[in-house]
Amino acid sequence: MTGTPGLDLFSGPDAPSETDLYKCVHCGFCLPACPTYLLTGLEAESPRGRIALMKAVNEERIEATPDVIDHWDLCIQCRACEVACPSGVPYGKLIEATMAQVAPRRKTGMLPKLAGNLLLKQILPHQRRLGLVTGGLRMFQRTGAQALVRKTRLLKMISPNLASLADSAPTVPANTFKASGQVIPAQGPKRARVALLSGCVMPLVHGPQMDAVTRVLARNGCEVVVTREQSCCGAINSHVGDLDLARDLARQNVDAFMAEEFDAVIVASAGCGARMKEYGHLLRRDHEYADRAGALAAKVKDVHEFLAELPLLPPKGRLEARVTYQDSCHLANAQRITDAPRELLRTIPALELVEMEGATQCCGAGGTYTVTQREFSLRLLDARMEVITATGAQIVATANPGCILQLDYGARLQGAGLVVRYVTDLLDEAYRAE
Ligand code: SF4
Ligand code: SF4
Repeated sequence: MTGTPGLDLFSGPDAPSETDLYKCVHCGFCLPACPTYLLTGLEAESPRGRIALMKAVNEERIEATPDVIDHWDLCIQCRACEVACPSGVPYGKLIEATMAQVAPRRKTGMLPKLAGNLLLKQILPHQRRLGLVTGGLRMFQRTGAQALVRKTRLLKMISPNLASLADSAPTVPANTFKASGQVIPAQGPKRARVALLSGCVMPLVHGPQMDAVTRVLARNGCEVVVTREQSCCGAINSHVGDLDLARDLARQNVDAFMAEEFDAVIVASAGCGARMKEYGHLLRRDHEYADRAGALAAKVKDVHEFLAELPLLPPKGRLEARVTYQDSCHLANAQRITDAPRELLRTIPALELVEMEGATQCCGAGGTYTVTQREFSLRLLDARMEVITATGAQIVATANPGCILQLDYGARLQGAGLVVRYVTDLLDEAYRAE
């Protein structure tokens, strides 16, 4: 292999844990669960293969060349392998640590590096700056400029991937959700006082859906506090290996959510919930924050998990529709929550819930995967759309903004009128129909 200086071993406190690495006994039970292995049939694109590469780099038998890194990059970080593994290999932690080792030494062109840094460090964690960017996108869509660019096929000539990415951009709504310290009072007798994570992208592209989350919680007797001091959860930064920024964002959230007493900290996005539930691990070496980070992680509840445990006050309004549910990887695999969203959907009168084949298989939206691995992301989406269509459902429900955006793009490509909704949106609709 061609060596790349400085990329020959893992080192420092963020290196993958040897104890975790050597838990893998190469049994291969995880292979049929891995979407990239299923697509390619290649050992190097399987969890076992990727772990073998980590071990080889760790033992300095091979160098972490660009070829080796490519195999780790193709991993969606869906963590389906963790669920399938009988030896309890914490693959999520291993790949997160590996990406953190690779990130600072990655050989990327000047322009992509600048663009990546600008987006992930300077824009995404800052709600106001992100708001300006999505505001620009809204103008681009509303003024007809987007339609013109599509018509001239200009982007397609420059880069088909860029054109497909631009096509998949969601229509940005006029009303956004803002964390401004607002308190939404409980309806009826108060059953809980909760804080709500607003997030980064979700409040801007799915503002009305965030409002629906607050209505559903309030309807279930929860006082909802949306603290102004909160920040992005850091999931995307962790995904690309920027653990320093992820830790900074986690500290901000620890300060914001632990400043008051809440029964739970509710998260409506599965990816953010998975990240926050692991804040204890992320800040384990920070003496000032470690304990409070662990305490916050213990308070974090996915919205479906929380409502099912509360338990939910069943809506009386009817919703006559055939609905199928696509598990979000970060809910099903990282948080191991698969029953709660289905239980909630079953409470809606007249709603018919039908299962699709392999509902826990990834739709191809994982962190920045839709951008960095466009071809694989779309191949996975195609496979999902096929099984979703086979159910004859009019609506596909899911629990994560990334999955909503990805499936919505799939539905638009298909043009068959399939509607993609959050579970909480459907609950809200049923309550409003009462
Ligand atoms: S996280 Fe997903 S894509 Fe990555 S190795 Fe595991 S199953 Fe495969
Ligand atoms: S990750 Fe787990 S399931 Fe996969 S090969 Fe290793 S021990 Fe077996």
